[in-house]
Amino acid sequence: MRQPIAVLAAMEQELRLIEDRLHRPNSHEAGGRRFVSGTLAGVDVVTAISGYGKVGAAATVTTALDAFAPSHVVFGGVAGGVGEGVDIGDVVVANRLIQHDFDASPIFDRFVVPSLGVAEVAADPDLTDSLLNAAGAYIGGAFREEMARQGKPPFEAGDTQVHVGLIASGDQFIDHVAQARALLSDLPHLLAVEMEGAAVAQVCAERGVPFAVFRSISDRADQKADVDFLAFIATVAAPITAGVVDELMQRLR
Ligand code: SAH
Repeated sequence: MRQPIAVLAAMEQELRLIEDRLHRPNSHEAGGRRFVSGTLAGVDVVTAISGYGKVGAAATVTTALDAFAPSHVVFGGVAGGVGEGVDIGDVVVANRLIQHDFDASPIFDRFVVPSLGVAEVAADPDLTDSLLNAAGAYIGGAFREEMARQGKPPFEAGDTQVHVGLIASGDQFIDHVAQARALLSDLPHLLAVEMEGAAVAQVCAERGVPFAVFRSISDRADQKADVDFLAFIATVAAPITAGVVDELMQRLR
């Protein structure tokens, strides 16, 4: 059997379009979660929903690795934009990830994950490059055409930019300017904050499996962050996630 590519997200709504497009879908139960295998653009994939947070993400990716031995792991979904110019509707591809709530000081420096000896875990450079190309192709192509056709794009998504850099994860929904500012002052290069990516990064780094993470920006991690998430995901994030993953599969084929 060829090794599949694992495509994971936190919320069912984020993955729905991808699961709808799977060719010959097959459902499996493992580790208390539902995995769906099939093909996308001729590539074997396995998908799963992790739920919110680092523990759920770590458990899901660990089960995916044990049960399906994927060659690569890709995690997608939504995140709060923290870096300057990282606006709602933009896409952020992580080249490295950090757990912003991990602190084993004074034994280890703040943020350092003892098993890895680093604070920032690098995503796989080749997979990240492919993801970046896929995001550029989808956003500059089919997505822009669709937004132009809609006239008034939902959630300011007409001018979507693609960024690459640091994503931070923690078991906290960030919805106050003061929290976002504190994160940015500790991590000046931070682009976006979410709740799962760095957990996936740790597990994949420990296991030597190439991984990449990308996110659609749903909010600015401030008091206005309680946007209508489900509407944003349905109209912007889910199409972006599916479109980018589809472009990625064409590049990995
Ligand atoms: N409880 C709200 C939204 C939860 S959003 C609702 O369901 O309506 C939490 C998910 O979105 C997590 O998977 C996280 O990774 C991501 N996310 C989006 N914006 C975020 C932010 N500002 N802070 C932390 N996580 C965020």
